[in-house]
Amino acid sequence: MKRRVFLGATGSLASVGTLAYTTREPIETLEIRFWLSERAASYDGAVDRIFEYLDALLSLEFWTLDLSFGGTVQVSTEDGARVTSRGEWPAAILSGAIGRRDITPAADVNVLVTDGQMTQAPTGYGLPHIASVGGARHIAALESLGELLSSPDADADRKIVPNRRTTRTMQILVHEIGHALGLGHDHGVSFRYGDAIVATPMLSSYAWTDDYDGDQSRCGTSYADPAGRSRKLSLAFSACARRELADYSGGITG
Ligand SMILES: [Zn+2]
Repeated sequence: MKRRVFLGATGSLASVGTLAYTTREPIETLEIRFWLSERAASYDGAVDRIFEYLDALLSLEFWTLDLSFGGTVQVSTEDGARVTSRGEWPAAILSGAIGRRDITPAADVNVLVTDGQMTQAPTGYGLPHIASVGGARHIAALESLGELLSSPDADADRKIVPNRRTTRTMQILVHEIGHALGLGHDHGVSFRYGDAIVATPMLSSYAWTDDYDGDQSRCGTSYADPAGRSRKLSLAFSACARRELADYSGGITG
């Protein structure tokens, strides 16, 4: 199942511009493919956890999710943001789109998970249809979604979970996939939940940091004041994000 892929390190972000984008009616099937860096692949369970969580979190009512594992790729950096922002991962997907046989891009989201650090932003990066994030070891350390959602400090219906390194990493994976599908940070919301403030995937930790200017979502929902409150995460996209995703129609042709 594991395929080894060797990537050149000379890609440029500009080359992404040569990908053909199509405009279609809202899609019926959403195709997401994920890859692991070689170091990310050394953590047992990462692939299973990504399958399990993304299947549950991205199987939305307006599409059928086609989720697949693309294999293991050799990259020159484990930095989950730079591997995309400096062009290496986009170049690899581009080369697959124009006929390279060892990488087959998915139509909608092509996401690379690396062994990059998750303590200092940026930890991931998302472009249209292409994204990456670090933290494979934290994803591998996650309990099953069922176990997580049945814990006393979780809310299974709203997919609200404790704010831990493991859960945060999964939320950031969902966040970067959201960017790949055209979502911005202002599609996210934060809200009061008991004594806590909950941040949805697109707002994520911007809900409690000063380096974000907005005070309401694109849909007009005011952000909750985080001062003095504990923090929780929702792994589910906000209603605002879901409305945008319902109209998602673009994809890569190759
Ligand atoms: Zn972001």
